[in-house]
Amino acid sequence: KHPIHVIGGGLAGSEAAWQAAEAGAQVILHEMRPVKATDAHETDSLAELVCSNSFRSDDHEQNAVGLLHEEMRRCGSLIMRAADQHKLPAGGALAVDRHGFSAAVTEAVNNHPNITIEREEVAGWPPEEWQNVIIATGPLTSPALAEAILAKTGEDSLAFFDAIAPIVHYDSINHDIAWKQSRYDKAGPGGTGADYLNCPMDRDQYYAFIEALKSAPLHEFKDWEKVPYFDGCLPIEVMAERGPETLRHGPMKPVGLTNPRNPTVKPYAIVQLRQDNALGTLWNMVGFQTKMRYGVQTEIFRMIPGLENAQFARLGGLHRNTFINSPKVLRPDLKLKADPRIRFAGQVTGVEGYVESAAVGLITGRLAAAEVSGRDLPMPPVTTALGALVAHITGGHLEAESYSGARSFQPMNVNFGLFPPVSVSRPEGVSRWRGNDKVIAKRRAITSRALADLKPWAEAGLVPAEA
Ligand code: FAD
Repeated sequence: KHPIHVIGGGLAGSEAAWQAAEAGAQVILHEMRPVKATDAHETDSLAELVCSNSFRSDDHEQNAVGLLHEEMRRCGSLIMRAADQHKLPAGGALAVDRHGFSAAVTEAVNNHPNITIEREEVAGWPPEEWQNVIIATGPLTSPALAEAILAKTGEDSLAFFDAIAPIVHYDSINHDIAWKQSRYDKAGPGGTGADYLNCPMDRDQYYAFIEALKSAPLHEFKDWEKVPYFDGCLPIEVMAERGPETLRHGPMKPVGLTNPRNPTVKPYAIVQLRQDNALGTLWNMVGFQTKMRYGVQTEIFRMIPGLENAQFARLGGLHRNTFINSPKVLRPDLKLKADPRIRFAGQVTGVEGYVESAAVGLITGRLAAAEVSGRDLPMPPVTTALGALVAHITGGHLEAESYSGARSFQPMNVNFGLFPPVSVSRPEGVSRWRGNDKVIAKRRAITSRALADLKPWAEAGLVPAEA
C-alpha cells in the first residue's frame, strides 16, 4: 500500500495525518519549519497557533463553531483532544495554552507508529510517484509551492490576499426597509432583475455614515501583512478618505433603483447586498471590503437603514492569505479536478480559522485513508457542521438548481447560515414566540440534527484500514 503524503504540519496537516494514521494508513508528513520559516510562525512545533489562543465558543447547542468542536471530538480529533487537555479558563470559549497545545500535537504525531515526519519544503508540484497527497500549507504557503499551484490551477484560481466584504444573515435584515431590485431591473445570467437587496440612505444618514467611517479605528498590520490596494477593490474607509462623495459614486451609488415604499423620493445613497449562498441565508455587502476593527464594523454597519439589527456571519477584512478558488478547482470530495491524486485541506481551501482548518484536515485524512484501503467513505452529511463547511467551499450547495447567481468566494468561518434551514413550531401552549426564543429553538434543532446525522460518518471513519 502506498503512503499518504501530507504537505504542511499546521492545524489541518497534523489532523489529516493523525486521522489517516489512526485509520491504519502509512503517512509521511512534510513540514518545512525549522528548515524554512514563514513570516508568522515562531517555533518548529506542529499546529502552532500564530495569533490568538482561542478556538472560540465551545457551546455546541447554540454556536456553530462549538458544534464543530463537538463533531470533531466525536471523530477522534487530535486537535480537539490536545485543546481540551490544555484548556484555560475563558468563560464559554475554548482557549488553550498555546505551547502546551502545540507540544501535545507534536508529541502525538511524532510518536504515532504510522507517521514519519520529514522536515523539508515541498518546493514544487508533488512528484508523480506520490499517489495520494494532501496539501495543507495554509495562508502562508511557501512561494515555490504557491507558484506550482498557480501553474496547475490557472491564474484566477489562487489568491494571495483576501478582500472580505461583510456577510449578513438574511433573516436579520429589516425587510420593511430593504427592497429587492437589480440596478435598472437588469436580469444578469440566471438572475430575475430583483437580485439585490437595497438599503436606502438620505443625505444626513449618508454624511453621518461617512464621518463614522473616517474616524473608525483600523486593524493594525505588521509590515509583512500590509496588503497592496487595487483600485476597484479599495477598503470603504479609504474611499471615504478620498472625498465625501467617493462612495456615492462608487458602491453606494443610488442610480437605477426606486424605493417602492417611497417612489417619488430618490435615496441619496444605497447599500446593496447580494445573495452569497444557494440557500439564500447569507447576503454580502457589495463593495464593502474593509480593514476597520471588528467591534466598530458592527456598530457602523448597523447605522445603515435596514441593517439596524443585522447579525453578521462574517465581518470584513483584508489579509495576506493564500487560498484557492475551491468552488472552481476542487471536486466535492476535495480532490483537485486537474490532478485527482491531490486533495487540499485547511485554510488554503478558503475556510477561515484554526478549528475550520483542522476540520477540513480531519475530513481529508479520513478520505485519503479510506481510498488507500479500498473502502468507500462518503462526504459527511451537509446537515453536519463538517459537511456544511465543505459544501460551502466546494460549492456543493450550488448543485441546487434554484441558484445560479454570482458568488463571491472569500474565506469563511463556520456559521449557521451554511446549514440547510430548519423550521420549528412553537411549543404547545405558547401562543407566540418571545424575544430570541425562535432563534434559540432553530439553533437547537440544527445542532441536534447535526449530531444525530454525524453518527454513522463519525463511526465509519474510525474503522482501521486492516479491519
Ligand atoms: P497553518 O497552520 O499555517 O499550517 C501550514 C503549515 O504548512 C505551516 O506549518 C507551514 O510551515 C507549512 N508549509 C507551508 N508551505 C510549505 C511547503 N511548501 N512545504 C512544507 N511545509 C509547508 N486563525 C484563527 O482562528 N485565529 C487567529 O487569531 C488567527 N490569526 C492569524 C494571524 C495571522 C498573521 C495569519 C497568517 C493567520 C491567522 N489565522 C488565525 C488563520 C490561521 O493561520 C489558520 O486558522 C490556521 O493556522 C490554518 O491552519 P492550516 O493548517 O491551514 O495552516
